[in-house]
Amino acid sequence: MQAADPRRVSIFGATGSIGQNTIDLIARDPDAYDVVALSGGANIARLAEDARRLRADVAVTAFPERLHDLRAALAGSGVMAAAGPAALVEAAARPADWVMSAIVGAAGLAPGLAALEQGATLALANKETLVCAGPLVLETARRHGARLLPVDSEHSAVFQALVGEDMAAVERIVITASGGAFRDWPLERLASATAEEAAQHPNWDMGQRITIDSASMFNKALEVIETREFFGIDPDRIEVIVHPESMVHALVGFRDGALMAHLGAPDMRHAIGYALHWPERRDLPVARLDLAALGQLNFRAPDGARYPALALARRVMARGGLSGAVFNAAKERALDHFIAGHIGFLDMARLVEAVLDRFESDPGLIDAPMTLDTVTQTDHLARQRVDAAMAQRAG
Ligand code: NAD
Ligand code: MG
Repeated sequence: MQAADPRRVSIFGATGSIGQNTIDLIARDPDAYDVVALSGGANIARLAEDARRLRADVAVTAFPERLHDLRAALAGSGVMAAAGPAALVEAAARPADWVMSAIVGAAGLAPGLAALEQGATLALANKETLVCAGPLVLETARRHGARLLPVDSEHSAVFQALVGEDMAAVERIVITASGGAFRDWPLERLASATAEEAAQHPNWDMGQRITIDSASMFNKALEVIETREFFGIDPDRIEVIVHPESMVHALVGFRDGALMAHLGAPDMRHAIGYALHWPERRDLPVARLDLAALGQLNFRAPDGARYPALALARRVMARGGLSGAVFNAAKERALDHFIAGHIGFLDMARLVEAVLDRFESDPGLIDAPMTLDTVTQTDHLARQRVDAAMAQRAG
């Protein structure tokens, strides 16, 4: 039998936590893949080394001022160097069979859309894509016959539990949350929590931003919206449950009362590998659970006072339109300020809520037709409004 042609793959956000896990899987079977594009940010050495090793056609840094460094690091390798947001979109438009979307934040949207427009299968770790522009992204995929596969662990778990099932038989989707770094802290302590403390995840090893978002549950809030968009399920059928062990990733409840759970060690290579090999299952280098050693699994309802982001997500889903783009951008900007030490941990939700209030009193903005341009403009305006709200508090 003749070996199949290598699959053409691109990885956006290749230098990050998801990107490196994706490279780990691909590098185990180098003959099976033809790497088209890799992208990164400020870590030029990492990007260049992986691009050389995997013989990528092009490597792109998000930062134009780093193009010179990237060129130097790639000298003599035959890998093309490029930089900036437009170069990211161009790289995503290069023909590929499978594209990993693992940039963090709304910056992942435009390259993701470009990948769908060329008909590639888009493995979506970047949850912001569906939060900011779910209807636009799904319509783009439909129009170009492209497929979206979830990589967020909860959504991969739901997707797997739904194989062979009819969405009409689904009563509810339950996604689990570890509760993050402050799960067991007394509420009074949260106001003075630092970014360093918030960046300590109890179970998962992830990028800094998503780890802090886990402590505030802004990550879970984004995931609830992502669940709604990806699976087209009513918001009131989506539940969040705190599960400190992070072994059950999600559950799907059916009309006959059956509840199908997906379990696995907290290792993102499972969800990445499932999306890479879908619809097949292949061997993956992830730990196998020893249930007897685990002994017990715990579950509890999330406390609304501790995690105000969850109620904000409900509000965004009820409002629809461009409110997801507002929510995500305001959250990203508030997170910038928290990481910089300008605001406290609890101020993030307050700022996001204030910005949502302002947009909701201006329906012309939120209900504008959803295009990449309107989403981008809304994103910029929401960030400006976070800064304006901060200036007002300071003044
Ligand atoms: P990370 O911070 O480790 O890596 C982010 C990547 O994006 C890096 O390659 C970085 O260079 C690049 N990047 C950052 N800013 C950029 C910009 N403005 N333009 C272009 N590229 C930029 O993040 P991560 O933890 O790997 O998460 C990536 C995405 O996957 C996020 O959307 C996150 O929510 C999602 N996700 C991550 C995990 C996880 O385990 N890490 C799990 C589920 C979902
Ligand atoms: Mg997740």
